[in-house]
Amino acid sequence: MSFFNTISRSMTRGQRAPKRATTPTPTTPSPSSMAPPSPVPPSPSPPIPKPLYLSSPFVEAALVKGNFKTIVMLPKYVDIMEWVAMNIFDFYTNLNEFYGVVTECCTQQSCLTMSAGPTLSYTWINQERKSVHLPAPTYIDYVMTWIQNLLNDEATFPTKSGHDFPQSFPSTVKHVYRQLLRVFAHIYHAHFHQILHLRSEPHFNSLFAHFLAFGREYELLDMKDVRGSSASPVGVGQLWEKWRDMGILEG
Ligand SMILES: [Zn+2]
Repeated sequence: MSFFNTISRSMTRGQRAPKRATTPTPTTPSPSSMAPPSPVPPSPSPPIPKPLYLSSPFVEAALVKGNFKTIVMLPKYVDIMEWVAMNIFDFYTNLNEFYGVVTECCTQQSCLTMSAGPTLSYTWINQERKSVHLPAPTYIDYVMTWIQNLLNDEATFPTKSGHDFPQSFPSTVKHVYRQLLRVFAHIYHAHFHQILHLRSEPHFNSLFAHFLAFGREYELLDMKDVRGSSASPVGVGQLWEKWRDMGILEG
């Protein structure tokens, strides 16, 4: 375990008050048991216009130019688990800040479901093991609280030297990654105009491209979660394809 990273990570963590600590922990099962997205039956509606995030110049807007492969590579002498833990902590923290910015527009009324495409809304498994639609703010609050609690849990994300990462660490971080992807997917699908209004699209695109590149590099991300099914595609699946074609991401 890298001394530097252990120190820097625990310092960063110490500085940030848990943003969602006041939110009650959901009593529903952890998202690790969540079902795959359930497709909403397609209705015969007029063709959907191309989303703004897939349109020029927004699709190209990024702070980091070039291929993201180089910034996700494991630095020399850094433990891979520590590298993954650190990056997940950063993705979570940054995404939480972006969601904080759009949160007043993501309400029980505006976002009745956890939508991520014209025919896709993710479902949550409730205590009765039933797959249910939750308003997006509720779903996101459950997910972010769950991740915050994991990050604060020394047994899951150890920060002290001498504490090893648990055997379950790879599968835990895959679940975390899948849920973070859903939050990105909802913001792109439902709130990209607010991101544009704040002129934050270069930041948000860079964060998401970094997240995708990192997830592919360390096999934390399944492409079927990025693309969705043909009946209910994930909106950001097309974004991934565009960026791959532009040479920003690897295939
Ligand atoms: Zn929303």
